[in-house]
Amino acid sequence: MNMNNVTIYSTLTRKKERLNPITDGEIKFYSCGPTTYDFLHVGNGRALVVGDLIHRILKSLGYKVTFVRNFTDVDDKIINRAKEKGVPALEHADIFVNECKKDMHSLMMIDPTFTPKVSETIPEIIEMIERLIAKGFAYVVNGEVLYHVPRFESYGKLSKKDLEKLQHGIRVEVDDYKKHPSDFVLWKPAKGGEEEPSWDSPWGKGRPGWHIECSAMSYKFLGPAIDIHHGGIDLIFPHHENEIAQSEAANGVNFCSYWCHNEFVNFGTEKMSKSLGNVVTIRNFIEKFGGIVLRYIFVSSHYRTKLDWSDKIIQKSIEELERIHQFVIEFEQININISKDNNNNSSSSSSNNVLEKIKQELANDFNTPKALAHFFTLIRDFRRERDEKDHKDHASFSAQALSEIKEIIDFVNNSMGIIHPNPASLLNELNHAKRELTATAANATTAAVNSIDEQEIQKMIDERNLAKKEKNWAKADEIRNTLKQNKIILKDSPDGKTTWSYEP
Ligand SMILES: [Zn+2]
Repeated sequence: MNMNNVTIYSTLTRKKERLNPITDGEIKFYSCGPTTYDFLHVGNGRALVVGDLIHRILKSLGYKVTFVRNFTDVDDKIINRAKEKGVPALEHADIFVNECKKDMHSLMMIDPTFTPKVSETIPEIIEMIERLIAKGFAYVVNGEVLYHVPRFESYGKLSKKDLEKLQHGIRVEVDDYKKHPSDFVLWKPAKGGEEEPSWDSPWGKGRPGWHIECSAMSYKFLGPAIDIHHGGIDLIFPHHENEIAQSEAANGVNFCSYWCHNEFVNFGTEKMSKSLGNVVTIRNFIEKFGGIVLRYIFVSSHYRTKLDWSDKIIQKSIEELERIHQFVIEFEQININISKDNNNNSSSSSSNNVLEKIKQELANDFNTPKALAHFFTLIRDFRRERDEKDHKDHASFSAQALSEIKEIIDFVNNSMGIIHPNPASLLNELNHAKRELTATAANATTAAVNSIDEQEIQKMIDERNLAKKEKNWAKADEIRNTLKQNKIILKDSPDGKTTWSYEP
């Protein structure tokens, strides 16, 4: 496996491409970070963990990665929340920057190279806006600076949106000071109010619009051209489209080579987001089940597939983490017991090429689920080999074989971050998580039971009996299954009567 074999799916071309960095062996990587107005929800967690995975995997494959993830600490949502609470907006934002960092730590994320905040990047943002005005890409109206979209010819190249079509969907009368309905704000004039943060600028007191921050931060820490830009799929339009328009207009070079987007987390059938009532915050989840369980859910599904949220995936995550950590404990016991003067230098059959296979999967558009599958094969083979050898000679794992397995465990952990530093204590935590999950499921069962009342159950039983009389077995089975899904069990007695009970 060498670094030249990495492929990435780029939203720009809608296909997998070979990773060809601007500077050999180095990656300039930017990922859009969270807006810190409240605790983050599980959907936000996916984007965070995927950004961390891209960072870790590229590092593990040998690249020198410079990684920037911002905090949006200046934003309307923050200002509104701060007004409700009667505190300055930056103070409110900082509280949630810190809470977010705690979540990131629980999710076993490693630190990016730079984590800038908007409030600390104002001079660079103003400088970039000035360049856009000087080059004729932006204009000023009453203290507000707007980007003139039609001036940027390749606008829409990422989202594949047509500017002409976009125009029809926008209500022009509201924004009649704009030269074009798609023009977006770079600098907003301050409306006053103590809570609202504002800075002096050539256009008067105000604050930056959202899109410009990422262009300015990326330029500040990574230069005019970067290799990879990541974010949730919801950021493609308009945020990333606007970043391209700003950066390329200001700097005159191609902004980013590969655009990476992770899919949503589906909660029920709706996209999971704060606007829905059914919010699960990362913090809630961590308190119940632990951060590594949430991280593992994201690592074990490919970042470009939709993730359907359910109790099942939590359970699967707990079980697989148990298997991994039991293996790590078993391996360490054998590793300690084998004497160093063991001169059997043969490789273990269990570690056969596994490291290479894991690297290849991760290099193939960050295919973490397939990489994990190879790791589980190693675990299975290791146990088989150990059990066979136990019958003959406990010490027949060679030092060579053990060091190969150790290398795989370390690589899996460095690239995917799924092995807890204290496996024994994690197993305890996982037991707790299992009990929590059972309790949660029991609550859900009660809710489900209450959703069908006794009258309705009886009606369905009568319907089923009629279906049986008509020899419509398919329908009869369907009714039985529907009831079973609602935790109601039917029992047919020989005299033809049907009784029901709640599933124990
Ligand atoms: Zn961004």
